[in-house]
Amino acid sequence: MLVEGKRYRDLPSFFKTLFGERVQKLSIDGGFTCPNRDGNKGWGGCTYCNNASFNPDYCREVKGITRQLEEGIRFFDAKYQGQKYLAYFQAYSNTYAPLEVLKSRYEEALAHPKVVGLVIATRPDAVNEEILDYIAGLSKHCYVCMEYGVESVNERVLETIHRRHSYREAEWAICATAERGIYVGAHLIFGLPGETKESMLEGAVRLGNLPLHVLKLHQLQIIKDTVMAEEYARNPEKFQLYSVYDYLDFVVEVIGKLCPEVYLERFVNQSPPEYLIAPNWGVKNFEFVALLDKKLEEKDVWQGKYRNI
Ligand code: SF4
Repeated sequence: MLVEGKRYRDLPSFFKTLFGERVQKLSIDGGFTCPNRDGNKGWGGCTYCNNASFNPDYCREVKGITRQLEEGIRFFDAKYQGQKYLAYFQAYSNTYAPLEVLKSRYEEALAHPKVVGLVIATRPDAVNEEILDYIAGLSKHCYVCMEYGVESVNERVLETIHRRHSYREAEWAICATAERGIYVGAHLIFGLPGETKESMLEGAVRLGNLPLHVLKLHQLQIIKDTVMAEEYARNPEKFQLYSVYDYLDFVVEVIGKLCPEVYLERFVNQSPPEYLIAPNWGVKNFEFVALLDKKLEEKDVWQGKYRNI
């Protein structure tokens, strides 16, 4: 069911229903690394990735989890009184460690009195049955959402960007997580080299048909100190970066085709200006959401309107 005034299922409305108040995700650096950086799967990471570009200042692993939570809560409590928090293990691959290590870090976060749940971002190939069984146990007592970086459903595109896992693995992870009653989220990036508008639209629909609870969409950004930044400098013509208005039209199309059950959490990335090479929209997330709401109204589109067309 859509909340009045919204033409898509937005995650804040779901949180309000579930928790009865505003809930803030608080980014935590759990001190993990990534199999695509330490040589297990590869070196150098995905071609677009620079973790520093999405790690807030209060969030540095050396500080420890409780201290990061305290600093984050102090920051957000000054803006919004009395809200609850979800510890968001965001940087790198947050299931990539022995189970005992995972337990101690997640449970330290959950021990904070203002933390009501976890969001665990990871790669689809960095979970297994044992980890998921443990997380399923946690999810019986609090909100837990696994957030998988899928990025594309196109195997060739995944190879091009050096993800070093397949879409098939992403499908397995999403289904194995949902089967255990754990909330599941996924990321998609729109505009990766090798994608077409049709392949991205089809990919979003295909992903949205899996047992997903939350979907996050992002436009491709070229970030400093990445392999992609070098590729972009050498061959900018290989990249078709969106203008904000083209992206807006595309997202409207995606929403019209998406499964009406999935909650939409984000539509844009906002890398800090010191990291961003292109495209430089200068549009904040809330501004994009306002433009999107207006555009959906103008075009009379709502989530799933064109699902069977
Ligand atoms: S995007 Fe994720 S999986 Fe890829 S290199 Fe960065 S941390 Fe690792």
